Order: sequence, then C-alpha cells, then structure tokens
Amino acid sequence: MHAARLWNYLYLALAESFSAEAMPELPAKIRTRLAAEAQLGLLPAALETDSSDGFTRKYLLRLADGEKIETVLMRYTGRVTACISSQVGCAMGCVFCATGQMGYTRHLTPGEIVAQAIHVARALRLSTLSAQLSTRREHAPARLRNIVLMGMGEPLHNYDAVMHAIDILRDETGLAIAAERITLSTVGVVPGILRLAQEMRPMHLAVSLHAATQAERAALVPVAKKWPLDELMAACRSYSETTGRRIFYEWTLIEGKNDSPDHARAVGELLRGLPAQVNLIPLNPTTGYDGAPTHSEAAKRFQKILADEFELPSTVRQRRGIDIAAGCGQLAVTAS
Ligand code: SAH
Ligand code: SF4
Repeated sequence: MHAARLWNYLYLALAESFSAEAMPELPAKIRTRLAAEAQLGLLPAALETDSSDGFTRKYLLRLADGEKIETVLMRYTGRVTACISSQVGCAMGCVFCATGQMGYTRHLTPGEIVAQAIHVARALRLSTLSAQLSTRREHAPARLRNIVLMGMGEPLHNYDAVMHAIDILRDETGLAIAAERITLSTVGVVPGILRLAQEMRPMHLAVSLHAATQAERAALVPVAKKWPLDELMAACRSYSETTGRRIFYEWTLIEGKNDSPDHARAVGELLRGLPAQVNLIPLNPTTGYDGAPTHSEAAKRFQKILADEFELPSTVRQRRGIDIAAGCGQLAVTAS
C-alpha cells in the first residue's frame, strides 16, 4: 500500500521531496527513512533557454556527479514533445553533430533518463508555459504525451538503461506515455535494432541514414564502418518483417552533399519495398562542421522525387529552436 502511494507521489503528483506536504499519506517513519536512504533523483536545471519564437525551451540539467545533459521541450500546436538524452556525449562521432563532436563521457542511468521526462512534465504543470501559450490563444496540453529519444547520445548504445526507462515512462499507473507516442532514433546500431525486433518493443523506430551508399555514409557516420549499410538495411528489413512496423529513415539534408535528385533516387531505390517514411532534416549549424543546409526548394524537389517515382512518403522536419542551439544535432555541453 505504501509502495503504491509512493509511486503515485513520484509519477502522478511529481513530488519534489519526501516532506509531509509532498507525501501526506505516507507515515512519517517511512518518509524519514526515505529521506535518509533514498534520493528523488531530481535534475536541477543549470540553465533554461527559450527560443525567440517561444516554441522551444532547452534545459541544461545537472546530474549528481556534476555532468550535464540537455533536454528539449518542443511545442507544436496542441502537442508537447520532450526530446530526451540517453548519454553524456556520444561515442558515434557523426561529423555534423555537436554531441558527436564533444565525444563520449558516460551512459545515463534509467533514473536519469526518466528524470528528464519528469522535469518537462513538471515544467508543463507549473505551466508558466501554458500561461504563455494561452496568451497566444493556442491549446496548451498540460500533460506530457510525446517523447523522442533524439537528444544527446545513441540510445541503442545504452540499450538496457533506455528500455528500463521506457518501461517506466509507459507504466499506465504513472506517466502513462503511450508506446505509439515514443520514438527512438538510432544511428544504426545493428544488434540493437535486431534486439528491438526480437523483444517486440512497441515504440516507433527512426534510423539515421543520411546516405544511400556505404562510402558516402561512412564519411558522415563513422560507425558505418562497424555496421555497414547492407547489414543495416538487412536489420531494418528484418525489424519490419518481425514487427510489421514501418521505420522512419532520417536524412540530414546537406547542401551539395546528399541533396541532389540522384541522391533522392538512390534512397528511393534503397528503401524500395520496405515500409518506410523519410524524415528530411535540413542541416543545423554546429561549430565543428561547415556544411550548409539544403534550401527549401531543393528539399521540396527531393520530396517530390521520393513521392512521384517511389511512392515514398516524406516530411521535412520543422526547424525549431535553432537560435538557442536546441535543434537536431545541436545539443552539446561545453566545459564550464
Ligand atoms: N543518436 C541518435 C539520435 C540523436 S540525433 C541518432 O543519431 O539517430 C537525432 C537526429 O538528428 C539524427 O537523425 C541525427 O543524424 C540528426 N542530426 C545530427 N546532427 C544534425 C545536424 N547538425 N543537423 C540536422 N540533423 C542532425
Ligand atoms: Fe551520436 Fe546521433 Fe549525434 Fe551521431 S547523430 S554523434 S549517433 S547523437
């Protein structure tokens, strides 16, 4: 009974302490013991930054050992999404990604992954944000419903902790995030993709492709040398066959690198026959890479080829939070 109450305080009331005010129905003896022996694992925000359009808020969260991670709250009309991190830094080294450029420090624990969602859920509830939104006369959902594992780190490199965290996020008596509202993005960790299929994990899967030939991909995504494109595509095929699910394929559009009509046809050929949707992400600027984003005309041309010649659906990701470096691949923590 006490455990059930504690759970409710943690995941429904989003309690911030073991105090009598925060947990009135727990006996003092238990609260005192919890305060002495346990930790709520809250992640204090060292910095909060709002994008100028007011749609994106970035949190720099401090972990117990002093390391820092970034978590992003994104608002689209009627929808709030938390973009959460799975590692401090990243070991995969994608050339255009600020997290890759900072290198790998450590995995996050399940608690640290869940705590990011709780931080965002609490912020929503505190609803300074909702107040801002209501002045914009937009519907402001108070509850966090969507999670993307697209923050710092490679989630399938930290498989067990990420799955443990997702189980907690999904728990229907707690935060109750529906599996169909969780998207995990991977750089293409082949054993992880196969394991997801084998375990029939029900969230959405996004695979970062960026190139349709092994040589071009390896130049952008160094781990392609470890898990070559043909092995990756075989794993994706097997995933879709086993789970019956479509995969989202991400393609960071870099001007003059991977955005020509020939590139569009190459990805169309590569994905032929697979249940797929392509997410095009115009390159966001990072200090360590001097490529430029594809112009919207060229992005539209790319989409049109996928649609007309391959019946392949695609979206161009809305650019959000670029002015506060909260866009895809811009998350990094500088030493301070
Ligand atoms: N590690 C995972 C998830 C995090 S990144 C992965 O790589 O899939 C989420 C998406 O942003 C990935 O598709 C990634 O390739 C892309 N990305 C990284 N840096 C970017 C940048 N500078 N501009 C646009 N997209 C970027
Ligand atoms: Fe890591 Fe993803 Fe960035 Fe690549 S794009 S370095 S896998 S976070």
